[in-house]
Amino acid sequence: CRADIALIGLAVMGQNLILNMNDHGFVVCVFNRTVSKVDDFLANEAKGTKVIGAHSLEEMVSKLKKPRRIILLVKAGRAVDDFIEKLVPLLDAGDIIIDGGNSEYRDTTRRCQNLKAKGILFVGSGVSGGEDGARYGPSLMPGGNKAAWPHIKTIFQSIAAKVGTGEPCCDWVGEEGAGHFVKMVHNGIEYGDMQLICEAYHLMKDVLGMEHNEMAQAFEEWNKTELDSFLIEITANILKFQDSDGTHLLPKIRDSAGQKGTGKWTAISALEYGVPVTLIGEAVFARCLSSLKDERIQASKQLKGPQKTQFNGDKKSFLEDIRKALYASKIISYAQGFMLLRQAATEFGWTLNYGSIALMWRGGCIIRSVFLGKIKDAFDQNPELQNLLLDNFFKSAVESCQDSWRRAISTGVQVGIPMPCFTTALSFYDGYRHDMLPANLIQAQRDYFGAHTYELLASPGKFIHTNWTGHG
Ligand code: NAP
Repeated sequence: CRADIALIGLAVMGQNLILNMNDHGFVVCVFNRTVSKVDDFLANEAKGTKVIGAHSLEEMVSKLKKPRRIILLVKAGRAVDDFIEKLVPLLDAGDIIIDGGNSEYRDTTRRCQNLKAKGILFVGSGVSGGEDGARYGPSLMPGGNKAAWPHIKTIFQSIAAKVGTGEPCCDWVGEEGAGHFVKMVHNGIEYGDMQLICEAYHLMKDVLGMEHNEMAQAFEEWNKTELDSFLIEITANILKFQDSDGTHLLPKIRDSAGQKGTGKWTAISALEYGVPVTLIGEAVFARCLSSLKDERIQASKQLKGPQKTQFNGDKKSFLEDIRKALYASKIISYAQGFMLLRQAATEFGWTLNYGSIALMWRGGCIIRSVFLGKIKDAFDQNPELQNLLLDNFFKSAVESCQDSWRRAISTGVQVGIPMPCFTTALSFYDGYRHDMLPANLIQAQRDYFGAHTYELLASPGKFIHTNWTGHG
């Protein structure tokens, strides 16, 4: 029998995705650069399945139904180009190559265009949810040559995570590198969500003086509210977790955060396309600051904070303030993320369906949450929605959190707790809702020292220069 699809790359992601496809009744033909891993896989993890192996690309291609569908799950970068180069001479027009690795979206756009000229349909798909997701239902974000979609839709939607009444967390994202761009923004949002939770934890711990089990309980309660999400759930479990000696593990972990770069890429894109995605940027910088551990130890001995470090208010109501600050800040972060997607769509001429992107993130991936269902509803109601903050549900959600949000931040500032994401979210909100910002002064300064000209409110589009000093 011929295989429905091939998968190249027998590392953890590839193996799990193959077994997932097998579970859903698809016959998968597998190949790997180090060919011995094919037989190892067939004899072990894939024993008793319908998976078949190939010991060369030629053999793999000969075992596939047409149009041929080939997924690459190899290390991003050079390995992807190498395999494409070797595959092209073996394929026919209309065959499909899918890159499921963490490729940079510009590489995907380039590959898509090059392969289109050769009649091969290229798809770059974001795959999220890590190893477990790949095995039991990832969030899949495919983009590229849309002619491929009817041929891969059934497989992709069968193996993806499901939410609600069985809706798959996978739909067509858009042209060229759109799938990988959306995956990148997903990862950036993940950085933001994690940092926001850390700021809530910091306030609970150092303002309210809460114990670990107490904090775990608070997060468990929060997980029954609008904040219901995977990251809140695991935070509660982490806070509760006890080391073999019966004490909590979390306070023993070195406070220096690592990063692989996708949050940074999102922030770089935001700067590149001029979109104020401030929260993800701050989340990346917060990790950078955390990693200066030795320097911070030195500084902590010399730099003084505020006198006031005691909290005298009502503990229960401040805890609710923190929860609302987290919720409001999270809304801002997603609003900013979707602003970046919208700008990329304009920049590259992509047609993106924002509601279905929210649904793709609703399950299977790290940022999965009930909240994303509300974002989907907002874009379903108005696909042209300019900003999430202007949707009625989110508008009133932020309004109802706003007093708490400001209280949480001002108390934290008084006590000297760093809250880069809470504060930048509030600043963004206050900036976005002001029809007049002090940028008139920036324009005047630029014109003063550099004759950069400015517009008058009364005559937009007409640029004028003033001789501010009266000198010739
Ligand atoms: P990986 O460690 O990123 O890659 C290993 C695979 O790539 C192996 O099959 C390896 O073949 C092949 N490979 C490496 N360099 C190669 C080269 N120069 N030429 C040909 N093949 C080469 O594996 P992974 O963690 O399973 O991830 C696969 C892809 O999914 C990556 O792009 C990754 O970023 C992405 N991803 C990973 C996760 C995750 O949680 N791990 C989540 C989402 C996406 P050999 O066996 O011959 O070395």
